[in-house]
Amino acid sequence: CGIIGRVGSGDAIETLLTGLENLEYRGYDSAGVAVQNGSGIAVQKRSGKVEELKASIDDRPLEGEVGIGHTRWSTHGPPTDENAHPHTDGTEDVAVVHNGIIENYAELKSWLRDRGHAFTSDTDTEVIPHLVQYYLDEGFPNETAFRRAIDDLEGSYAVTAMFSGEHVLYAARQGSPLVVGMEDGEYFLASDVPAFLEYTETVVYLEDGDVVIVDEDGVEFTDLEGNPVSRNPETVEWDP
Ligand code: GLU
Repeated sequence: CGIIGRVGSGDAIETLLTGLENLEYRGYDSAGVAVQNGSGIAVQKRSGKVEELKASIDDRPLEGEVGIGHTRWSTHGPPTDENAHPHTDGTEDVAVVHNGIIENYAELKSWLRDRGHAFTSDTDTEVIPHLVQYYLDEGFPNETAFRRAIDDLEGSYAVTAMFSGEHVLYAARQGSPLVVGMEDGEYFLASDVPAFLEYTETVVYLEDGDVVIVDEDGVEFTDLEGNPVSRNPETVEWDP
């Protein structure tokens, strides 16, 4: 339902939680965040309101300069803590948030199960981190593993992923909205511009088939195969 991602310096948690609150108007049943916390990826997620996620982060603080967040509107599996996003493959090498529906998730799930992958949620989304992990295990670098996993998906998606040990976000869209927000040294990904409008008014609306790679130095806009595509920033007026 709602996606927010942030790369920059200084702590990302405040920005991610603000982004999720800004997306609450869309409706949702669960919320979660994942950050790079130095030793790897740390995830906190739960069914219920962003307010409740914030309370659980107050109890068990999270820190990181790079992170992703999600508000879920369940399509596959009930609104439980396990089904909330972000999803990982269990090893915390990669964390993924997703909006939309993966139509071929059942086939992908049984294909992955045959190769030893164990699933912990009822979601269609969970196949994405497992596919990425499958390609990592095959020896592909992070970017290639992400592109190959996206290429296996049928359906509609806005996906944002983060790998352990990297200050980089990877995102792709097909049939679900995704926008990039740009500020000096700080970049955002979101399902909708209100998520980050108090931080930047410079946005790029992604198109179907786009894959973007975002780090502290900028954004690379490409197609699924990695060919560069040209996307122009627009300024969005915001009245707080
Ligand atoms: N299909 C996914 C799920 O049920 C994503 C739903 C959404 O767009 O929030 O978890």
